[in-house]
Formats: sequence, structure tokens, C-alpha cells
Amino acid sequence: MTDVKVECVRGNIASQPDVDAVVNAANASLLPGSGVAGAIHDAAGPGLAEECRSLAPIHPGQAVISSGHSLPNDHVIHCLGPVYGVDEPSEELLADCYRNALLLADRKGLASVAFPAISTGVFGYPIAEAARVAVRSVINVRPTLTSVRLVRFVLFSEQDLSEFRDAIEAYG
Ligand code: ADP
Repeated sequence: MTDVKVECVRGNIASQPDVDAVVNAANASLLPGSGVAGAIHDAAGPGLAEECRSLAPIHPGQAVISSGHSLPNDHVIHCLGPVYGVDEPSEELLADCYRNALLLADRKGLASVAFPAISTGVFGYPIAEAARVAVRSVINVRPTLTSVRLVRFVLFSEQDLSEFRDAIEAYG
């Protein structure tokens, strides 16, 4: 199946009401933190951290799913990205995040998933490289998806958006 739309927008991952799941750029303990994890936990409310206690810890490249609590989405998929230059091979581990999140969403019968730029904040992954890895990973898994029909990348800055746009043009 190749009729899966891949798009990118500038915005806040915690304000994507039209998708079934948003992806959290989580830490290993799945606790509220800064950046994406902070925004998601703030919007979801304390029930999310409570549910996450039984799902943690996770390892780089892994994805686990919880409900969305007070978020406008039914689910949150939590991924632990690699710390750039520390968790190796970084490229494979980052690609695993996107692939495992989409396979999990597909197994749950979800139709739409929104991703932030995993690992490109505190974890230090250069945005242009991360955009290429993310888009290639989604394109590679796309033929195996039976339920997911929309993959959205949500970028915080105009510059990050433009890197993802370039990558989608190159590989999409
Ligand atoms: P990591 O620890 O995986 O690097 P971060 O949360 O620190 O994750 O950042 C990942 C990326 O998400 C960064 O590019 C950051 O600018 C961006 N970001 C931070 N907050 C949000 C948000 N609310 N919505 C979308 N992207 C965000």
C-alpha cells in the first residue's frame, strides 16, 4: 500500500487535534521533561505520567503506546531517540523510532500519526541529517502499512520545517 500521505507543518505537537496519535520525544523513564515531553505532559495532565510508570524504562529506538488523557488525541506513542554521538549507531536508532512508532500505530488500527523532530533538541542530532533519516524511514515502512494513512511531521521553527520539506521532496 503506498497511499500514505506524508506532510510537514510548522506547529506544536501538543496541538494536533486531527490525528489519532502524537509521538513524544521521550526520555528513558517516560517522565515529564523539557521540550516535546514537557508540552505533551502539560497538555495531557498527570494521568499520562501515571500510566507511563508501568511502560518505562524504554531503550533507544523503542516505541510504546499510551492513551492521550487530556490531549485532543486518543493516543501518545513514546519514542526514545538516540543521544547524538553517544547512542550508536545513531542513524539506525533514529530510523527505528519512526519505523517502530508507525508499526505500533498500524497494529493498533490508527489512521494518522504526528511526529516531532525526535532527537534534534536536547539530544543534539543535527536537523538536516535527522530530517533525511526520518523521511527515509517513513518512506521505507510505508509499503507495509495497512491502517495508517497520514504521517505528519510537526516542526517548531521555520528552518526545521524547511529541512523536512527538502527531505520530503528528495525522498517522498
Ligand atoms: P530530544 O530530547 O529527542 O532531542 P526535544 O524535546 O528536546 O527532544 O526536542 C526535539 C525537537 O522538538 C526539537 O527540534 C525542538 O525544537 C522541538 N520541539 C520542542 N517543543 C516542541 C513542541 N511543543 N512541538 C513540536 N516540536 C517541539
